[in-house]
Amino acid sequence: MLLFDTSADYLQIFFYVLAFAAWAVATFVVKNLKTAKGLQILFAGVCLLFVTAVLQNFADVFYQYAVSAKVLVLAELILLLISTVLLIMAASQILMLKDLTAPLLITFVSVGLCLILYAIFVADNALLVDNIRQILPVIGLFYVFLSFLSKPKVWKYPAELTAAAAVAGLIVLMLWPMFFANRYPWYVPLDLIFLLAFAYFLFGKENATHNWQLIREKYNKLNNNLAAIVKSSPFPIVMAKLGDDSLVKVNQTALKLFGIAEDELPRYHFKDFFVDGDNRQLFLEKLEKNGEVHDFEILVKRANGNTPFWLLASANVIDYNNDVVLYAAFQDITSRKKRESLLQSQADRDPLTSLFNRRYFEAKTAQKIEAAHARKQSFAVLMIDADNFKNINDTYGHKIGDKVLIELAAVCERSLRQDDLVARYGGEEFVVFLANVSGEIAVTVADRLREAIAQIVVYADNGQPISFTVSIGVAPSGISDNINMMIKMADDAMYAAKQNGRNRVEIFKRELAEKFGEKQNNQQRLMHPVFAKEETEEISLLDGVEANHMLED
Ligand code: GH3
Ligand code: MG
Ligand code: MG
Repeated sequence: MLLFDTSADYLQIFFYVLAFAAWAVATFVVKNLKTAKGLQILFAGVCLLFVTAVLQNFADVFYQYAVSAKVLVLAELILLLISTVLLIMAASQILMLKDLTAPLLITFVSVGLCLILYAIFVADNALLVDNIRQILPVIGLFYVFLSFLSKPKVWKYPAELTAAAAVAGLIVLMLWPMFFANRYPWYVPLDLIFLLAFAYFLFGKENATHNWQLIREKYNKLNNNLAAIVKSSPFPIVMAKLGDDSLVKVNQTALKLFGIAEDELPRYHFKDFFVDGDNRQLFLEKLEKNGEVHDFEILVKRANGNTPFWLLASANVIDYNNDVVLYAAFQDITSRKKRESLLQSQADRDPLTSLFNRRYFEAKTAQKIEAAHARKQSFAVLMIDADNFKNINDTYGHKIGDKVLIELAAVCERSLRQDDLVARYGGEEFVVFLANVSGEIAVTVADRLREAIAQIVVYADNGQPISFTVSIGVAPSGISDNINMMIKMADDAMYAAKQNGRNRVEIFKRELAEKFGEKQNNQQRLMHPVFAKEETEEISLLDGVEANHMLED
């Protein structure tokens, strides 16, 4: 008589079904646990143990159907052997000793099978059969009991302790008939099954806590890894909370770059290092839109506010210590930027005089004219040409000619206001844009400039002082405000100044243009870059300007 008394009434059967159902449900609760498979196999093993007991209790029924006693006992012991194997497998799973299981089970099954066959058919010894019947499941259960208790610091785990207690109870019940004559009450095994089910629920709970701890540990590990990566990066890296912009992590390279000490970090916000608020806004907008920003150029300053410098930033939004954090890595591109602006200025300037060149003048002046129109201001363009410059070259040499041009340029630049613009137009020709001037004032300014230039003294190699003069043509706004056309008008006026004796200023007038227009050498005019370029546009641009000499060309 084992474990389960089937003389039991329906109420008892109901409770047994209930206990196993509870345990079955509990096995699903623990399904995410590493040892879950072991617990499920344990469930299957103990179920089979009870089935075996039921089989034994219904022996009479089998006999009625002429099943021989030996065959029945053989079937029962083989079922017991299988359930024991299941228990050992369960324990191995719980201990996670997969490698050990196969050879152990094969040995166990072969020895067990031999013993069973020997006891039933060879020795035909009822006592031996009875002992095998008791010992087999005890071996399995004992193994399971040990597996529960084998967990390090097991006293901290109520699930393992409860399960071990329930299994120990089952072992006691198995061995009970060997030591005690009376039977234990019918509900004792039932209680142990309930206890196992309860242990399983505890496993589920323990599992949840355990998983949460694992996640926590993993998260901390990731954070630590990130911190290590940030720390060892040769690039400056800044991590700042997106919420309040406070600095979360700044590596040594970045601390040095921004000129702050680590203990000063709480005093700063990321925005403190941006020079330009709009630049920062654009950076954040891009980050918000795409979640990342690549190769964004930002102008930053050090903590003491000195010397702004350029950084190339790449940024991401990441999760760090439960905060939404901006992760930005930088590259110092100050020298590149300097090089770029140097190249740019080289492209825009004339190497001899350092004045802007013609290309820059035309582009910039077009903008200035637009701005002047918007403000309803008049303006003027001057064309300055050195008088008899060829003589200077011929008399004193090209080097002295260069010196003259440099001095001329310097005087022009010094004499003009911030909004004005001067450029070297060609060999010994300079153009000036005068902002916010009427035609008359432009003439006055030009005359003052002419006088200032006449004061220049350059010394020849032999120490001889050289002076020179210029002729200036003035093109006032309001006739044609196209920059190329105005240059052409200023050139015409300048040509008139040359014709009128040089070292003088002339303003563009239609009559003036008429007077000298016919006398000019047409071939020479067409060779002039401005005329050659503009010839085709004249009619439309000077539409309505009657009797203009230019139309006659
Ligand atoms: P005008 O009064 O009619 O303007 O006479 P000009 O001699 O100044 O006129 P022209 O156009 O005949 O001569 C301009 C000279 O400027 C010719 C050229 O050799 C010289 N020149 C042009 N560019 C440079 C330069 O960069 N350096 C030097 N030294 N001379 C230059
Ligand atoms: Mg010239
Ligand atoms: Mg000249």
